[in-house]
Amino acid sequence: MTRSISILGATGSVGASTLDLIRRNRDAWRIVALTANCNAGELAALAREFEAEIAVVGDEACLPELRAALAGSAIEAAGGCQALCDAAGRPVDITIAAIVGCAGLRPTMTAICRGGAIALANKEALVSAGAVMTAAVAEHGATLLPVDSEHNAIFQCLQGGRIADVRSITLTASGGPLRTWSAERLARATPAQAVAHPNWDMGAKISVDSATMMNKGLEFIEAHHLFPVGLDALRIVVHPQSVVHSMVEYCDGSTLAQLGPSDMRVPIASCLAWPERMDTPCAPLDLAAIGSLTFEAPDEDRFPATRLARNAAHAGGAAPAVLNAANEVAVAAFLAGQIAFTRIAPVVEETLDRYAPSAPSTLDDVLAVDTEARSRAREVMETAAIG
Ligand code: NAD
Ligand code: MG
Repeated sequence: MTRSISILGATGSVGASTLDLIRRNRDAWRIVALTANCNAGELAALAREFEAEIAVVGDEACLPELRAALAGSAIEAAGGCQALCDAAGRPVDITIAAIVGCAGLRPTMTAICRGGAIALANKEALVSAGAVMTAAVAEHGATLLPVDSEHNAIFQCLQGGRIADVRSITLTASGGPLRTWSAERLARATPAQAVAHPNWDMGAKISVDSATMMNKGLEFIEAHHLFPVGLDALRIVVHPQSVVHSMVEYCDGSTLAQLGPSDMRVPIASCLAWPERMDTPCAPLDLAAIGSLTFEAPDEDRFPATRLARNAAHAGGAAPAVLNAANEVAVAAFLAGQIAFTRIAPVVEETLDRYAPSAPSTLDDVLAVDTEARSRAREVMETAAIG
């Protein structure tokens, strides 16, 4: 039976991993929408290869290039925010939400409001919208399948018992490429060093988040929304080999873990086939070759981001949206060479101190908080004391 799929963020790292799996079983899938921000040429090539119904660029300025690249084909071309949402609202069996950042929130919410299955990679959308998104999932009977490897691991481990019997959930963190660096050395880390992840091949933004540990902070908030066990039952442990993708401890003392190669095609395949399983070309796990698995406590002196995220989760309301927006702005500034690596967390903390709006209750409220938090974060970066 053929299933239909739309991929939001088709030209990114998660998008490419998803399309790689589809390419290997082409006849099983009908591709509806493929989207990107601006790389029209690459998007058009993918749309032609996968015979998509529609290709959409988020940046409207790139639409003429997309149209030209699709000329002579039957594929529709569209551009802009509204077009992204319209495409995300087309009926499909499963949507892959793989846009990076809060930019993915509106299209992801549109897909959720249509019902059906959403494989969520776009963690920033869930972190920002939190209860607004989970309420929409419940209201529209959508199924949120976690693509993030840790959350996918937890989702799988939760098949082994009831959520009411969970004592704790432990998110594993690789610690990123700068895990062993001194505070002095971290202050001089370059974008190239920060994105050189030892285990995973990912987009630039999430790679920097891995290096600061903000990725684990965002994932802590993401887990809180996906798995209602209470914040005090959520833990983080550093596990540099990225083999154990996360763990669930039950009240009887049993801990279930999911292990696998550090290849995003594994959790993506688990979402694509859910509740069944599908083959992937991923290298099998060879534990004897890996030798040892190690675990250590996070160092929140050198990597304060997890503390900021935990505090934002406890504060609730708008705080996670402010944290996420400030982090997006600070990471972009770091990647552009405008601030030091060790300024990212202080910019986020200072923005949270200066801006504490009331809890958003609608999608528009969340987007308004996001917009304002971005401008506050830019102000913070312009303040000499913060850098
Ligand atoms: P990426 O940078 O490789 O790709 C991002 C995609 O989003 C691209 O297709 C890009 O064109 C599109 N995009 C960017 N800005 C946009 C905008 N303003 N409007 C519309 N489209 C836009 O990112 P990625 O590494 O694939 O990550 C995607 C999401 O998945 C992120 O939220 C990330 O945290 C999450 N995630 C990624 C991985 C991974 O291994 N890469 C693992 C877990 C979770
Ligand atoms: Mg992850």
